[in-house]
Amino acid sequence: MKVAIYPGSFDPITLGHIDIINRASLIFDEIIVAILVNSSKTPCFTLDEKIELIRLAIGDNKKIKIKSFDGLLADFAKNENVNIIIKGLRAVSDFEYEFQMALANKKINPLIETLFLNSSDKYLYLSSSLVKDIAKYNGDITSFVHKKTKDKIQGKLGRKDFE
Ligand code: ADP
Repeated sequence: MKVAIYPGSFDPITLGHIDIINRASLIFDEIIVAILVNSSKTPCFTLDEKIELIRLAIGDNKKIKIKSFDGLLADFAKNENVNIIIKGLRAVSDFEYEFQMALANKKINPLIETLFLNSSDKYLYLSSSLVKDIAKYNGDITSFVHKKTKDKIQGKLGRKDFE
């Protein structure tokens, strides 16, 4: 069975992430969406909230598993017995960091291969930070997140005093 890990902060999951997950699941038998817990940035959403939002967004697709990890991605991959890491690439600005991470992961575990999927053109500009910035001011995030997650994201981030 061909399995790949798709790691990220998913704070929160956007249509850009969902697009990568769906396209990767056409190539692999199973995708492990791996939520990074020890990010240096303090997340807006708790791990449980992130899991709930990802579940709502992907439905009951049996090919997609949701897990979390705290520590090195290379160690998580080893524990899962998976050697393929999927990354989404939006722009040149993503590339430098992602390339560095791919080389570092390969140094730690030479069996790891990082595969890059280009962002679809309609999601090139989309990031979790953009969604948070817009939701904070009660802006409309309909075009950025899955419809089943919209109200929860808006409810958590929207300013109650900003109508
Ligand atoms: P963000 O950069 O939005 O905070 P994450 O850290 O959760 O996202 O990113 C997880 C992975 O998803 C990374 O490989 C990232 O490059 C990719 N990704 C995020 N947004 C998009 C998008 N709009 N299109 C393609 N890939 C994306």
